[in-house]
Amino acid sequence: MDIKRNILLNPGPSTTTDTVKMAQVVPDICPREKEFASMMKGLREDLLKIVHADAQKYTSVLFCGSGTINIDVCLNSLLPADKKILIVNNGAYSTRAVEICEYYGLPHINLQFAVDELPDLELVEKTLKENPDIALVHTTHNETGTGILNPIRELGALAHKYGAVFTVDTTSTLAMRPIDIEKDNIDFCMASAQKGLMAMTGLSFIIGNRAVIEASKDYPKRSYYCNLYLQYHFFETTGEMHFTPPVQTIYAAMQALKEYFAEGEEAKWARHTRVFEAIHKGLDELGFRDVIKREWQAGLVVSAIYPDDPNWDFTKVHDYCYERGFTIYPGKISTTNTFRLCALGAIDEEDITEFFKVFRQALEQNHIAIPVRYCDEKGTAGCR
Ligand SMILES: *Cc1c(COP(=O)(O)O)cnc(C)c1O
Repeated sequence: MDIKRNILLNPGPSTTTDTVKMAQVVPDICPREKEFASMMKGLREDLLKIVHADAQKYTSVLFCGSGTINIDVCLNSLLPADKKILIVNNGAYSTRAVEICEYYGLPHINLQFAVDELPDLELVEKTLKENPDIALVHTTHNETGTGILNPIRELGALAHKYGAVFTVDTTSTLAMRPIDIEKDNIDFCMASAQKGLMAMTGLSFIIGNRAVIEASKDYPKRSYYCNLYLQYHFFETTGEMHFTPPVQTIYAAMQALKEYFAEGEEAKWARHTRVFEAIHKGLDELGFRDVIKREWQAGLVVSAIYPDDPNWDFTKVHDYCYERGFTIYPGKISTTNTFRLCALGAIDEEDITEFFKVFRQALEQNHIAIPVRYCDEKGTAGCR
């Protein structure tokens, strides 16, 4: 079968291989059959291997939904009564976690930092010291809105020093940037199948500490569909998801895991790094600036600043590229106009070379000066 190959430079869903796409075309099956449960058992075990988790101490729990369901589940399920959550927040995805706390009415501290700055660890420690009722610390590994990499190992060590559970939104790093759950001081991490795994949307998973999940059995219940213990308990006792799983998506995820292990953790990370470097090279050649200091970037998302050119029109540039099979993505920073190019998915350096040919044409067609100009440079048209 000949399926058109699109290069997705958005932060997920990512470009998939044809073998993953085709893995969804299977005979119809009722997911309550033993055959299906045994497949999910293998899938759950494979997910642990990605983050080098010991199967005695850690477990993985699957949910039907996009990645946000994981944040929702962890926060609403893992907070004991009369305790508080600390969100270490320097971007859009940690802000989403804050919104989840607000929606459930969970006591929380939103410890906010600038979106282009790393969290101040001394301030995090001071907050933990002054608030002994913090039972859960949450942050985002790679803030996908900007591409900044947070120091999770250090944050996890602080959380543990003050007796709190550490949950990390690793949706845009897991199965890309190597993670070691124990060494990185993570109690719970999470992702969805369409990002690092390069599979299909609709399946999300949490990998975390079994003893903490078991202790949460007696915590206040704040959701029915999105309760971690309930789903875990159902998997442990029946091997099945509590409610209907995304059947075909699970077949695709199993194929994607096969391909993940065949490529290998290091080789895959090296490939994403090649793509990331190629994105930077292309943007540098065109004169674009980015938001986050290079040494702080997670190596997966580049946030470029709109040039100060009267002819710049993101939608027109996007549409030109889209019609030619390349998808670029708007930014997620309220104070600066940016767009994003991401290194996720089944793509390599050559795809980025091809992309920049098209991107350059898009700039030329729209009469945008190359190299692009910014108002703090002399002679930029339209600047006062
Ligand atoms: C993609 C992503 C999510 C999930 O977003 P959905 O829109 O629910 O798929 C959560 N956290 C991070 C860091 C992400 O990159």
